[in-house]
Amino acid sequence: MSAVAAEPGTAALRRSLFEALAGSEAVGVAVCDREFRYLLWNRFMERLTGLPASAVLGRNALEVYPHLREERLERVLNRVLDGETVSLPDRRYTVPGVRAGWVSAQYWPHRSSNGAVAGVVGIVHDVTERKRAEEENERLAAFPRESPNPVLECDAGGSIVYANPAAARLAADLGMRLERALPARGHADLVRAALASGTAVRAVEVAVDGRVLSWSYHPHPPLGLVHLFAEDVTLRRAMEERLRHEALHDALTGLPNRRCFMDRLSGALQRERRRRGPGFAVLFMDLDRFKLVNDGLGHHVGDQLLVAVAGRLRGCLRDADTVARLGGDEFAVLVDGASCADAALRTAEGIQRELSPAIGLGGYEVFTTASIGIALGTPSPEQPELLLRNADIAMYRAKARGAGRCEVFDRELHALTLARLQLDTDLRRAVERGALGVHYQPIVALDSGRMAAVEALARWNHPVRGWVPPDEFIRCAEESGLIVQVGAHVLAEACRSLAAWGRDLPAAAALGVSVNLSVKQLAQADLVEQVRRTLEGSGMEPGRLRLEVTESVLVENPAAAAATLGRLKELGLRVLMDDFGTGWSSLSALHRLPVDGLKVDRSFVAAMGRDGRAGELVASVVALAHALGLEVVAEGIERPDQLAGLRALGCDAAQGFLFSPAIDADAFARLLASGRTW
Ligand code: C2E
Ligand code: CA
Ligand code: CA
Repeated sequence: MSAVAAEPGTAALRRSLFEALAGSEAVGVAVCDREFRYLLWNRFMERLTGLPASAVLGRNALEVYPHLREERLERVLNRVLDGETVSLPDRRYTVPGVRAGWVSAQYWPHRSSNGAVAGVVGIVHDVTERKRAEEENERLAAFPRESPNPVLECDAGGSIVYANPAAARLAADLGMRLERALPARGHADLVRAALASGTAVRAVEVAVDGRVLSWSYHPHPPLGLVHLFAEDVTLRRAMEERLRHEALHDALTGLPNRRCFMDRLSGALQRERRRRGPGFAVLFMDLDRFKLVNDGLGHHVGDQLLVAVAGRLRGCLRDADTVARLGGDEFAVLVDGASCADAALRTAEGIQRELSPAIGLGGYEVFTTASIGIALGTPSPEQPELLLRNADIAMYRAKARGAGRCEVFDRELHALTLARLQLDTDLRRAVERGALGVHYQPIVALDSGRMAAVEALARWNHPVRGWVPPDEFIRCAEESGLIVQVGAHVLAEACRSLAAWGRDLPAAAALGVSVNLSVKQLAQADLVEQVRRTLEGSGMEPGRLRLEVTESVLVENPAAAAATLGRLKELGLRVLMDDFGTGWSSLSALHRLPVDGLKVDRSFVAAMGRDGRAGELVASVVALAHALGLEVVAEGIERPDQLAGLRALGCDAAQGFLFSPAIDADAFARLLASGRTW
């Protein structure tokens, strides 16, 4: 600059300057006259444009570069001819096939010796390097190099042009080029779409080599680049998958659970409605005597049995079928394509065959059978719950007919279900109106032949059906929970009657009364308080009351049952184990529950005499009970020989039709007054 400012005056210096510029490889110099004809085209210009001076000199600039017209350079040049110096901003240039880059240009007036503007001097700099460095800086500034997550930079065509260290580590971990970890189909489209829209494309997941990567595309349209952020969502997806699996599967056996089964059942129903296709059936399966294994060999072995059964079920069903564990020892199967009862029965029988070989469990050989109920899927708008319930009802009938059977839900069962529902409604009404009666059956002391106690038994005189067998309505009440009210009613009624008879008849003053206590009652939190109040209200001495429980109270929560019975006994009453010998764990029940005595089930008494072994069994029960200091009452004495046998065994008391069936309060009061002995 100072050289120019110094106005070099000597011709020698001017010539040197001219030669230096003309030959310069660092700066471009082109000079043209007022008609824009080139007068000078230096070496740099030759290199930059690929055009030799010989091809340019003397020609009009706008002719050499037609596009200059478009770029309005003509106007710029005219301004220079008017004496202005003009700098143009950096511009891109391309010489096809030769080079592309950036130049900056300045235009000076070329003055003749008289000072008039004779043309234009153009000085051109190649600023490609600087421009590239600037771009690179901009790019680097935009690129999240230090991100702990893998980040890639892709050009507009989708090729990876840069990967941050985390991305490089990812590639090393995967042992593959990152290109292979990108969305296989559509990566280039995603890049294009992101650039075109200028907005990020979110989370496209790719499974690579056991891992799940989630890519999001963040475009930088001015740079023609897209940054790809990768997130390793393998753990999250695995966790989600596990949670989903757990929500729909049984933890013990890994089979689908009830919820999953109901979902698939709904799906099957919907398909059936649409296409009236090959049909399906629902099998409800319950293991026979599972409690026996569970209580006898322990929960651990019970669990193993369930797992083994699940394995066998899986093994004998087709992939299209769904087998689920509904809970406990209940399983359900959705049999695909079973259009008729025969097809479903074949599947059920296949399951029973599969279950029949012994299962080895930790040193035990366990044989198991299953009762199976079948409900056929129909295209009618049935609810899935209804279908499953129908299969369940059919299963109950199968079980009632013996172990290892199948039953199909049919009209008859349907009618039965309706009848049971009706029964429940009627029973509820009877309880509300206090219409349930109590009958009394004497219990005779075998040494004296006198009545020692009485069992209070619920009776229901149905307005239409007449007397309903207790077994029937008691089961119904147990199922609906109504047994709690039934039991409370019988207890109150019995205590009141006994207190009254004791007042009227000196002989009945110490008469005991047995009242049956259901498992459901035992589970009530305020049972002890209820019984205490009932006793108080009746005025009967607590020592006269015996509560009869069956060993089924041990099934749910043995410790709680034992504790409640203990607290009941603190009221002064006694506890008897009912139906002794029918359960499987009877003997251990005697140890686990605080009982004062037991009632030998009538099935043992019924077999006495005719079957020597049953006699022996009763004999050993009596001996065992006495050894434990327990009272023994025999149930169901119907024949004199049974009475004689029990007397001989030293059994304490007995109850049965031989003495009297259960009779109503008036009849029983007369019996008491008669002072009859046996
Ligand atoms: P359970 O507690 O074993 O009652 C004895 C059952 O044996 C009574 O049947 C009685 O009538 C019957 N029985 C008595 N002697 C003989 C006999 O010599 N031969 C035969 N074959 N049977 C005899 P019931 O009254 O039909 O009651 C059946 C079951 O219903 C009872 O069995 C008891 O488990 C239940 N139950 C009855 N009333 C109540 C109640 O108020 N509460 C509860 N929780 N259950 C009750
Ligand atoms: Ca009883
Ligand atoms: Ca009994």
